This record gives sequence, C-alpha cells and structure tokens, in this order.
Amino acid sequence: MAEKRDYYEVLGVPKNASADEIKKAYRKVAMQYHPDRNPGDKTAEEKFKEAGEAYEVLKDPQKRQRYDQFGHEGMKNAWGGGGFDFGRDFTGFQDIDLGDIFESLFHGGGFSGFGGGQRRDPNGPQRGNDLRFDLEIDFEEAVFGSTRTVDLNVNGECPDCHGSGATPGATREKCKQCNGRGFVVMGGGFFQVRQPCPICHGAGTIVKNPCRTCHGSGQVKKPCHISLRIPKGVDTGSRLRLAGKGESGLRGGPPGDLHVVIHVRDSELFVRQDDELAYTAYVSPIQAALGGDIEIPTPDGIARLKIPAGTANGKVLRLRGKGMPRLNGGYGDLHVRVLVEVPDRLSSKQRGLMEQLESTFSATNFPLRQKSSEAAATFFRRRDSLNKNNSQ
Ligand SMILES: [Zn+2]
Ligand SMILES: [Zn+2]
Repeated sequence: MAEKRDYYEVLGVPKNASADEIKKAYRKVAMQYHPDRNPGDKTAEEKFKEAGEAYEVLKDPQKRQRYDQFGHEGMKNAWGGGGFDFGRDFTGFQDIDLGDIFESLFHGGGFSGFGGGQRRDPNGPQRGNDLRFDLEIDFEEAVFGSTRTVDLNVNGECPDCHGSGATPGATREKCKQCNGRGFVVMGGGFFQVRQPCPICHGAGTIVKNPCRTCHGSGQVKKPCHISLRIPKGVDTGSRLRLAGKGESGLRGGPPGDLHVVIHVRDSELFVRQDDELAYTAYVSPIQAALGGDIEIPTPDGIARLKIPAGTANGKVLRLRGKGMPRLNGGYGDLHVRVLVEVPDRLSSKQRGLMEQLESTFSATNFPLRQKSSEAAATFFRRRDSLNKNNSQ
C-alpha cells in the first residue's frame, strides 16, 4: 500500500494554516478533483476522497491536534476490546500525551538561535523539514522507561553563510526559471496550479556566488546527539515528537520537528497486547491437582499467584494491575495461562511412586476419561446391534 500523504500536503496548506485557510484550500482541491468535472478519472476520484479525509481531520481542532502530534497513527482507533488472544501477532498504536517529558540536548552547535527573524529574502522564511527516526528498543525499556542517545546527521544552518547560501558580500540575482515570481504555473485551461519554483524554492532570487561550504543550500549536515527520555508504556508505533529538533529552517524560518517512531522488540517472557500482558506458567501435574502458590514475574517484581486445587491444563488466571504500565499512569492486567508440564527423566524412585499412585486412581478421579469411555461403549453397542440387524 502506498504511504499515506500528509494531510497538510494534501490540501497544500502550511502546518500553521488557520481554519479559514484550510477551508478555502479544501474547497479549491475538492473543486479541482470533483468527480463531476473529471468523469471516469480514477486518480482525480482518489484525490477528491483524500482531500475529504484530510479536511475531516483538519477542520476539527481536537482531531487536528491529535494528527499534529501523532500523524496518521494518531487517527487510528485503539483496539476494540474483546478477550485476550494468546499468541496473536499485534501492533498496537497508542495515544501519547508527551507534554514536555523530553529533555533534549543538542551538542555540536548550530541548533540555537533560529527563528530570530533574520529575514534575508523578501519571499519570507521557510520552516525546516520534519525528520523521522526509527528507534528500536528492548521490551524492558518499554516497561521501565529509559534514556537513549540518538545520533543523527541533521541539516543544520551552514556556519559559513549562516543559512543564506551566499558568500559574504555576494549578491542575489533574479531567478530565470520563474522570472523572480517565486512560483511556476503548472497545468493548463481551467485548473492552473501555482507551485513553488523548483530552482529558487520560492525565493524568486538565486545566489550569484554560492557559499562553497554548502553549495548555496544554506544547510550542512551536522552530527547531533539527542538525549531522549522514553516513557514507560510506549509501544510499537508510538511516536515521540521533539519540537524544533528537525532540519533548520531556511531564510530564518523555524526548524522542523523530529519524530521518533518506536519499535519495541518482542519479550521472551511475555506476550503484549497494548497494556495487557500474557505469561505462561508451567506447573507439575501434582501442583495442578493439589493447588498452591506459584511465583509469577511481573513488571512490579515477583508476584505470588494461588493456583486452585484441580486447575485444568490451559486455565487462564488474571492478575489485576500487574500488566504493562500505561503512559498516563496505572497498569494493565497480567493474564497467566497455567500449563501442566509432564515430568521428564524420572528416577526409579519417582517411577515407583507414580506407579503406586496410578494404581490408587478410580473412575471418579478422572470424570472426563470416564465420560469418554462411556461414549466409546455406547458406540460399539450400537455398532453390534446394527451389525446384527444388517446380517438378518
Ligand atoms: Zn525561481
Ligand atoms: Zn553556506
């Protein structure tokens, strides 16, 4: 499946667009791709639907905020309830209200002093690009939280030209591509679309003597080390937004954001589904028959769980509040599946004791086995009766 496009991109509006601007932009796009105007055009139909979806979200301040923070993942519903499904493969997406739980530190310089209004170009500042970083963490980090240092090479402001792209004293000249307008007109007829000029990126001018360090782009790659706090309870698909830690802006524009997308490795001990955990406890046939306390590992330490006498193989017991920590506080539940492990490599003494025990069992000790042998007896009685009738 194709990657879902950014809603702002779909409507062609900046991230800080007002409600009015979004409405106008939606009308424009919807008109352009309206099925009535594009009969039989599948691409136009898709774009029309896409714009509708984008507008549904961006027109609603709450949905928009959610989308801004979490992207498309934020728009998916949390899993729809139901029982715990052992062994199921799942990918949970969660809503995270991170607030400012991050302490982000940049070393290596170049990341301070943005947005200072150093407007060098009449066509205005441009916000830096957002960056996405995929971070794989251990299951234990999702349980207990952790601090990670992320090493990135980020486009930052060129130190030699301070982002202007020009050598000191160099001049800018009118862009020939767009004749200084900063945009080019695409398409023809009724629907003409203005797009930022691909040569001057909307500036309308280009640098006559470009800076040698950045070749005129105004940006150079810089290594950055970002210290990042991973909160307890994150899941695969959780997205941590670090405002202003993306690429530097152009022409004095603000920097973009860094989105850290979390991938949690599987645990060898637990199976996780959102904030629920599942654990398999193995007991001996004797423990299952007699009952007793067993020890269960939980995020909260070792817990004692009482197994009732006569616990059936595969029975699931629930430990409330002993599951995954939740991002907004509290814990999910831990589901313990009790499996009987048949003993292996018996000593002659154990074998003797078991044989002795087995000889004491009667039908009442094993009602299921009893029921099954009764059903078998009925089966053969009916067979014999039928054989008799058939041979007559
Ligand atoms: Zn141009
Ligand atoms: Zn430069």
